[in-house]
Amino acid sequence: MATEKQDFSQKRPLNFRIEIPGDETVKSRILEKLQKAKSYLTSTWNKPVNNSLIIEELLDFWIKQHLGSDNSKKLHPFPSTYSQTRRQDVDQGLFVTAEKSLDTYGELFEAHTRICNRKLKVLKRTMKGHVASVRLMCTKAQLHSYLWSSSSYLPNDDFLVNHRICHAFYSSGLLQLHYTRFINGTGIGCITKERRSKFFRKYKEHAENESVQSVDNAINNEISSYDDLDGINIMTDARHGWRKVQKVLQL
Ligand SMILES: [Zn+2]
Repeated sequence: MATEKQDFSQKRPLNFRIEIPGDETVKSRILEKLQKAKSYLTSTWNKPVNNSLIIEELLDFWIKQHLGSDNSKKLHPFPSTYSQTRRQDVDQGLFVTAEKSLDTYGELFEAHTRICNRKLKVLKRTMKGHVASVRLMCTKAQLHSYLWSSSSYLPNDDFLVNHRICHAFYSSGLLQLHYTRFINGTGIGCITKERRSKFFRKYKEHAENESVQSVDNAINNEISSYDDLDGINIMTDARHGWRKVQKVLQL
């Protein structure tokens, strides 16, 4: 007997129930509509249809009408790239990033989407100069935790973004006070005084080399422009504006 019961259950198709609230009126109304859809689909598809096929077809039709044709877009519509800042978010932390780092973020996000359907959220942001080091994590698994930096590294392990800003700062002639006021006002992080000094020492060394090289080139060019000239003593600042900058920077 037990074997017969088992055979019987195996032949039955798997099924599930959906509970629909409503009295006899609602029931007959829904069943009538289901019957209409069933008749139409049976004749269109030229094959028998069950309740599962009917309901799926009706739901797909509704979703297509209201949410578009692409399944992934229906479930995860693309957010608008135009967003307005809420009043309480105007003081949110800012940081500086670079194009390539943004690409890396996109690749990271995409790789995570391939293995997981949850969103990556910012768990923690640590400022390293003007660079943000961001810990991203999804709500599904703590293993899905990634560290992303808003800047790539240079061969000396410093951040490209911080070097570019240091370069701009020293070559612009801004005073330290101006830098401090500016970064305090914007909230884009701060390169510490020690790191700025370290950068400045290197920068000075390179600027001096470039300066010597430039003077040599200028003299050689001047000499080569006259056939009977074998040397020159006077270089004017009017012709070589960079020497003024050098003076201002006290390099
Ligand atoms: Zn995940």
